[in-house]
Amino acid sequence: YISLLSFNNYQIFRIQVRKRPLNKKEFAKKEEDIIAIEPHSNALTVHETKLQRHNFFYAVLNEDVSNDEVYFEKVEPIVPLIFNRTKATCFAYGQTGSGKTYTMQPLPLKASQDILRLTLDTYRNQGFQLFVSFFEIYGGKLFDLLNDRKKLCMREDGKQQVCIVGLQEYRVSNVETVREFIEKGNSTRSTGTTGANEESSRSHAILQLCVKRSADGTETKPARLVGKLSFIDLAGSERGADTTDNDKQTRMEGAEINKSLLALKECIRALDSDQGHIPFRGSKLTEVLRDSFVGDSRTVMISCISPSSGSCEHTLNTLRYADRVK
Ligand code: ADP
Ligand code: MG
Repeated sequence: YISLLSFNNYQIFRIQVRKRPLNKKEFAKKEEDIIAIEPHSNALTVHETKLQRHNFFYAVLNEDVSNDEVYFEKVEPIVPLIFNRTKATCFAYGQTGSGKTYTMQPLPLKASQDILRLTLDTYRNQGFQLFVSFFEIYGGKLFDLLNDRKKLCMREDGKQQVCIVGLQEYRVSNVETVREFIEKGNSTRSTGTTGANEESSRSHAILQLCVKRSADGTETKPARLVGKLSFIDLAGSERGADTTDNDKQTRMEGAEINKSLLALKECIRALDSDQGHIPFRGSKLTEVLRDSFVGDSRTVMISCISPSSGSCEHTLNTLRYADRVK
């Protein structure tokens, strides 16, 4: 558990940039890879033109890094902390098509595998239970992805714990069930007349793994929350710019996305600088995440970027956003 120790001593917030490979479509359009990464020095260069380049410094994952490695490096070390009241959040940020869903989808599955293993192994017979829920925030409203997109509302209890009224939480005891829930939620998310990516790029999808335990350590009394791990596939960051679109609905969605991504940035900056006041109220997204940011929390943001010349402007925007939360 060397990695666990390093995470414990590490800052509350981490940013990670992930570059995906050029795809066939981009090859066909003769687009070029304009992102150069030097993994050992954590330097990243965007070659906007032959003469114009932009340098950034982050922890970077190159295009040859697998999803397993992403899990191993970024999420696995936090998993044991969940049994000790930590709330952890993993975000995928980036424009539509940059690899957010590709990055996020396998993570909760692997995490639940590890959580279940710990409940059977290290914490055997101590009454820990795992629950899964999956919802989305679309146009500032909450919908349950595991319950026919039922509309949900949010409430805060006296202890400033966030409660999402009506959200279905399912107890799970094997990874296969978790996989089914993830698939069900993802297909619910993407129904619509437009393509999956088109539709899902307008909402934030939030999958939560909650570890609970009943007071007496058995399963007879109702279980209370111990720790939580949230995986958030954010809306396409370019959608936040849709505020001048001709279509009213698109404009409204764009404004909402813009507001939530700005609010998220402000909250992370406040958290990371140990500032007393954290502006949660700025958006539905940050309100929902409020209890994941207070107390012992860990946050990883994976900023996904496309390598292609055609995405240069969006890539620069993503890297600048990352710079500002860093
Ligand atoms: P987003 O969710 O950001 O809109 P996706 O995750 O759907 O983007 O990725 C767009 C496409 O690129 C998908 O076909 C996906 O399989 C592929 N892709 C994304 N990231 C990678 C990667 N690191 N390696 C290989 N293929 C990737
Ligand atoms: Mg997606």
